[in-house]
Amino acid sequence: MTDILVLHTGGTISMTANAAGDVAPSAENPLMGQTDQLGTDVNVTAEEIFNLPSPHMTPARMLELAQRIRRAEADGIDGVVVTHGTDTLEETAYFLDLTLDSTVPVVVTGAMRSSNEIGSDGLYNFITAIRTAASPESRNKGCLVVMNDEIHTARFVTKTHTTNVATFRTPTFGPIGLVTKDGARFFQELINQESCLIDAVVPNVFLLKAYAGMDSDLFDALPDNTNGLVIEALGAGNLPPATLPGLQRLIDRGVPIVLVSRCFNGVAEGFYDYEAAAWSSKRWASFFCQGLNGQKARIKLIVGLSDGKSGAELKKYVNNAIS
Ligand code: ASP
Repeated sequence: MTDILVLHTGGTISMTANAAGDVAPSAENPLMGQTDQLGTDVNVTAEEIFNLPSPHMTPARMLELAQRIRRAEADGIDGVVVTHGTDTLEETAYFLDLTLDSTVPVVVTGAMRSSNEIGSDGLYNFITAIRTAASPESRNKGCLVVMNDEIHTARFVTKTHTTNVATFRTPTFGPIGLVTKDGARFFQELINQESCLIDAVVPNVFLLKAYAGMDSDLFDALPDNTNGLVIEALGAGNLPPATLPGLQRLIDRGVPIVLVSRCFNGVAEGFYDYEAAAWSSKRWASFFCQGLNGQKARIKLIVGLSDGKSGAELKKYVNNAIS
């Protein structure tokens, strides 16, 4: 018998559409008790840890979820499934990836269509997520995201479409597996898993996106208690020259600044040598986070800071996304 703990957190997968077509949280989770298709060798226990639309999710709630999973692992659970709204699903999944040292599968899933809409994907994703979590091949792979028959790493998956059920994609690298009729099938290995068992989260870590003509105003407007900043920079990590004075003032205040690319594919790294190009940014002691999007890099910076890392150690931790 394989024991799976399901932690419901809310989102469209837990919602129902009304007669007017508006989608809202249900008094009773429509997935409760929906495990008949799983056969007798999987035992599912379900808990509603939150019932929130995922824009209401915070790093503090992510930590609460991680701590619940740690307790379940200590109690001998064989796998965990988290259901979640899709808007911030990738951030929660990556937070769990960074803050759990799980060997058992931890699988996050959601839905693009609520429980009673035509073509609802919730129950299907839920059942495939449980099958993945119950599969021994899913062990030691970090936190996984299962949606629409695909298995993605929490580290690189992102929501790419506002409504399409095939919204979760892994740019640059692709999914690491598929859920078939027979079960979870993997065709890529996870490299370099790292975990920080934090018990609090550092607040005031911000995310800004660069654009043509950007100047220092937004950087100067950041509050005094800013603990860190991620910038989705241009191309391979370049910034408009008028941002330099504001960035320098943040660096003088000791604020760690992490650069990622605002491009959908590829990594940020310094190879140009002109004013405010990536090379200049490196010289100022801001640093790159390779292969992560802005929202994931922010989660990584929060976890690194919350783990007490600073200076070169923080830089190595945040930068080391791929190798
Ligand atoms: N807005 C919803 C949420 O993230 C979307 C979804 O769940 O798909 O909670």
